[in-house]
Amino acid sequence: MTRSPSLANNAPGRRAAPAWPARGALCLDCRTALAPGQGCPVSPRHRVASLADPAGRDALLTRVWGPRPVREHIRDATRAGAVSGTGSSVLDSCGLIDCLGGGVDLAELGAIALLAAVIAAVVFVLWLVITLVPRAIRAWRRSRWQPRGVRRAPDGLGRPSGLFGTITAVEPARGEPLTGHPCLAFAVELVHRAGWRRRRRMLRDAVTVGFEVALDDGGRVRIPPGSLLLDLDAARTIRPPVQRMADYLAEIDPGRAASDDLDTVPHHEVRHLILRAGQRVEVRGRLHATADPRAVPSGYRDAAATLLVPDGAPRLVLAPARE
Ligand SMILES: [Zn+2]
Repeated sequence: MTRSPSLANNAPGRRAAPAWPARGALCLDCRTALAPGQGCPVSPRHRVASLADPAGRDALLTRVWGPRPVREHIRDATRAGAVSGTGSSVLDSCGLIDCLGGGVDLAELGAIALLAAVIAAVVFVLWLVITLVPRAIRAWRRSRWQPRGVRRAPDGLGRPSGLFGTITAVEPARGEPLTGHPCLAFAVELVHRAGWRRRRRMLRDAVTVGFEVALDDGGRVRIPPGSLLLDLDAARTIRPPVQRMADYLAEIDPGRAASDDLDTVPHHEVRHLILRAGQRVEVRGRLHATADPRAVPSGYRDAAATLLVPDGAPRLVLAPARE
């Protein structure tokens, strides 16, 4: 399988744009994708592993599947389980039709029919045992090998702030890696399902090229390029093309292509959200005021030259559009 070397925008008719800010590390506790060297913004107690580092990758795999010997056992058993039974019918070989040759009376015919029915029933039960029991055992084993994800982790978004505003672009929009749609920020959540009730988050990723939020009270918040915490309530389930998904995951987990180990982010469901200019958001978390580096010196101080900047990772929640 060939892999595209970058996640540059490849939407038709658009010139190539620079890649999105790097991730490459994952919080082992809440599975938030982070920039290399970045601490988890959800909790300082969370442990972060760099996936470019084999030891970090092994720590994530151990958290997801178990220690290496357990993973090897699962791999071997899964390979063995992949060989399905032939399902060939043994009913064909009983040769009873030959027994029904001429020269038999009615009582003998009845006895032969009864015998045939008994043999058929025994063969049918044997066939059920031979095919269904190993299948049930494999299903039971597989149910014990479910990867461990995050069931209910704090989202790190903090309390409602009441600071609502509208997204304004300060950088050109970029093609989002899974759909190619141009946007200023995107979020992806990968979910593993086991049965119809057990859902586990395996990855949460949100990143931006940077933008500003024009607050309703006239202030401005600068969201710098990099990772952010984004509420995923409004995310939709998508089915991205296989190659786009592979390229996207390789960006976060560069070792996955060369690895023969189990998957670091096994999933059934891809949830997805993008942010564009004009959308309304609530800015949460602590902010501090700073001078706007882009402001043109005007000889006097005005409110437009002051920006609010998040302390640490930006925390945003999508808000309904104003009536
Ligand atoms: Zn975390």
